[in-house]
Formats: sequence, structure tokens, C-alpha cells
Amino acid sequence: TKLIEAKFVTSAADYRKCPPAEKPEYAFIGRSNVGKSSLINMLVGNKNLAKTSQTPGKTQLINHFEINKKWYLVDLPGYGFAKAPKGERDKWGEMIGDYLVNRENLMCVFVLIDVRHEPQRVDLEFLDFLGEKDVPFYLVFTKADKVGSVKAEQSVESFKKTMLLSWTKIPQYFITSAERRTGREELLKAIEELNLS
Ligand code: GDP
Repeated sequence: TKLIEAKFVTSAADYRKCPPAEKPEYAFIGRSNVGKSSLINMLVGNKNLAKTSQTPGKTQLINHFEINKKWYLVDLPGYGFAKAPKGERDKWGEMIGDYLVNRENLMCVFVLIDVRHEPQRVDLEFLDFLGEKDVPFYLVFTKADKVGSVKAEQSVESFKKTMLLSWTKIPQYFITSAERRTGREELLKAIEELNLS
């Protein structure tokens, strides 16, 4: 396993305030509590890089990390807080929507899905948004250790089936566990390949 050098760069409330778009960039997003911080920390081998379980309603920002001086990893605020006030949700939508649509060096969005759950409307709506805007994305099923590999595969199949109701093809996907550190090599390899493209 390659050693990873990760450095915090900025927290921005606006894509225009993000670092210069001169390196390929990969954004991680998902419902709150999906395991995003744990996955990011697992990927870069640093337990504390991304802060786990941010409190709802707290200021949520676009966090840039520079990896191996070569690419940016972006930690985006989670969506799907039923309890967050509508104003907060609108602000989230505008900030993240603008970022996703306008960030020119954004190579791919990794959309995290909790493998334990049935397909959730917020996730599907978010994927539809990416599709409408032509933003490339991969799926990352998280917390696989919580269900075991058979159930994980079944859950992925069920998600694919639901997706195929409105999509013509299924994007590349990964099954991961931050707990067991599975899926790490595959994710890093996918990023490496896009970096070379
Ligand atoms: P975030 O809000 O999306 O950043 O989610 P966190 O990374 O803070 O994780 C939310 C909760 O799920 C925490 O209690 C984590 O310990 C737990 N968690 C995250 N990833 C995994 C995983 O791969 N396996 C297990 N068993 N628990 C996980």
C-alpha cells in the first residue's frame, strides 16, 4: 500500500473561494452519517483528517485536502438531514449545486450509500441531479462489515434495480468498510486512473 500525504488546504462556503482549479479533484458526498469521514480517513490513512459526525445545522463547508501534491480530495457536507431547517437545506443546495456544476477540475463525485438501507429517495434524487447536470460520479457502498458480503451484494443489486428504473446504465461502484479497510485499494486505483486520463 502506497503511503499517502494528505494536507488540509481550505474550507470554503463558495466554489469561487476554493483553491485554484489546477489539480484533478474528487469529491465525497452522501447522507449525513453515511460514513463519509470514516471513509476519507481510511483512504488517506489518517484517523483525524476528516472530522466525523458533524452536527446538523452547523456551518457546513467545502473542505479541500491536497493528496500527494497531485490531486484534491474534497469533503462535501452531507445531505438528508430531515431535521435541518429548510433555510439550511436551501443554502446547502445552492452551495453544493453551484460547486458541482461549476468546479472545472472536478473529475468525479463519489456518492456514498449506506449498504444497510433500502434505496433512499434523497440519494436517488441527488443522483438524478448529477445526471441532469452531467456530473460524473461513482457509487460507494459503505459499512459493508455491518451486513456481511452476501447481504451487501443483495443490497447493491436492489439499489441497481431501483436505479435502472430511471437510468440506462449503472455507474462504477465500490463496496467498502472503513472498519475493515476494504475497498481502499480499488478506490485509490480508480482515482489514479482518472488522474492519468
Ligand atoms: P459521516 O457523518 O458521513 O462523516 O459519518 P462518520 O464517518 O462520522 O460515521 C458515522 C458513524 O458510522 C460512526 O459511528 C462511525 O463509527 C460509523 N461507521 C462509519 N464507517 C463505518 C464502517 O465502515 N463500519 C462500521 N461498522 N461503522 C462505520
